[in-house]
Amino acid sequence: MHLLEQRIREEGVVKKGNVLKVDSFLNHRIDIRLLDAIGEEFHRLFSDAGVTKIVTIEASGISVAVMAARYFDVPVVFAKKSKTAQLDSDVYSARIHSFTHNNDYTAIISRKYLSSEDTVLVIDDFLANGEAVRGLREILREAGATLAGVGIVIEKGFQGGGDRLRAEGVHVESLALVDSMNAETGEISFR
Ligand code: 5GP
Repeated sequence: MHLLEQRIREEGVVKKGNVLKVDSFLNHRIDIRLLDAIGEEFHRLFSDAGVTKIVTIEASGISVAVMAARYFDVPVVFAKKSKTAQLDSDVYSARIHSFTHNNDYTAIISRKYLSSEDTVLVIDDFLANGEAVRGLREILREAGATLAGVGIVIEKGFQGGGDRLRAEGVHVESLALVDSMNAETGEISFR
């Protein structure tokens, strides 16, 4: 998505440790026109997939998921993060390692909001090593739900998570695919 790449080039800040900050339009201040265009693009890419629900993880996936859901006209369910691994029988859960915080958390979705009747589009802001998506897929499997595909705003291709999913046959669509980035020069290149 050209518009998105342009915004990343102009406003993205490359931090040490392979972290890209896009606080000016996605992760702190939210540009609703850009997010609306992103939502529309996800709909175009997955319109034939029979999506009944969009699933994401709090917090930063929610805004993207909601904007896309307007086009699909389906509900959004976001996995809640819990620091403890305590389990409740009313929830599906998966342990996930956080790339940005370097800790583990449990992602939880209530059994009330996901079932084997659902065909799910997983949406997130970033895809790096693929841990968040792996955890959400684990929850989908537990629920018996079907995975329609994975829609990502920014994939950092050099971390390999996206290619591993594609190799498994998962339909992954990333609207911007970063090939490399340099914390010293601030340079970002796209695939
Ligand atoms: P993964 O689980 O694929 O390793 O990482 C994806 C998750 O970590 C996303 O939910 C996202 O919130 C966060 N993340 C990973 N890399 C970045 C990054 O470079 N910038 C930001 N803002 N978040 C990231």
